[in-house]
Amino acid sequence: MGTYHITIATEKCSGCLRCQLSCSEANTRTFKPFAANIRVEMMDELCVIRFTENCTACGICADNCFYGALTKTAEENNA
Ligand code: SF4
Ligand code: SF4
Repeated sequence: MGTYHITIATEKCSGCLRCQLSCSEANTRTFKPFAANIRVEMMDELCVIRFTENCTACGICADNCFYGALTKTAEENNA
């Protein structure tokens, strides 16, 4: 599987947490937001999105972001 650079646009984030749920499902086969390698924190006007050190850059979270807050670009070393 290829790896991707993921661009974040926090101003587009809805806080839906589809990214966290899809990452959790892909990696643990369970839907546990806290098990995800991406964390979204909504604080009034401020949205913070960060990746944990366990992120494999698989791009699944971006595939499941329907609001344009996460977009993926294939890394140059992708097969
Ligand atoms: S899926 Fe996209 S819009 Fe939803 S919480 Fe994650 S980054 Fe925000
Ligand atoms: S790129 Fe893959 S491992 Fe990293 S946060 Fe997104 S879904 Fe999880």
